Amino acid sequence: MTEFEYEELLDRARERIPTEISERARWTLPEPQIMIEGANTIFRNFAEVVSHMDRDENHVFQYILNELGTSGSREGPRARFKGRIPPKRLKKRIVNYVNTFIKCGQCSAPDTLFIKEDRTTLLKCQACGATRPVKL
Ligand SMILES: [Zn+2]
Repeated sequence: MTEFEYEELLDRARERIPTEISERARWTLPEPQIMIEGANTIFRNFAEVVSHMDRDENHVFQYILNELGTSGSREGPRARFKGRIPPKRLKKRIVNYVNTFIKCGQCSAPDTLFIKEDRTTLLKCQACGATRPVKL
C-alpha cells in the first residue's frame, strides 16, 4: 500500500458508506496527528489510531521504533519519538505495519488474527480464510 492509497483509505472514512459495501471498505484509521516538538516528534493520537487496529499497542510502538531506528516513550494517548521525524516517514511506518500485520495478502481484508501453528505464527483472514506466516 502506498502513501496515496493510505490517503484514499482515510478519504473513504469521511464518506458516507453504503451498508452493502464490503467489510474492508468499512475499516478505516483515524488521520495520524503528528507534530515536531523541539528535538522530538509527537504522535498525538497514537492510542486512538492503534485502537482501530485491534493489535497490541506495544507491538505497534516497538515496530515503529525499530523501523525508525530511534527511541521513544508512551505518554498516555501520545507517543514520543526521539528526533525530528518527517510526519510522512512516520505515516509510512504505520502503513507498513498495516500491510505486514493486519491486511490479508489474498483479499486485503483487515479482519485477521494471529494463530499459532507449531512454532510459526500465521496471520489468518476471517473474511476468506487465507493464512500467511508473520514474524512477530
Ligand atoms: Zn482474506
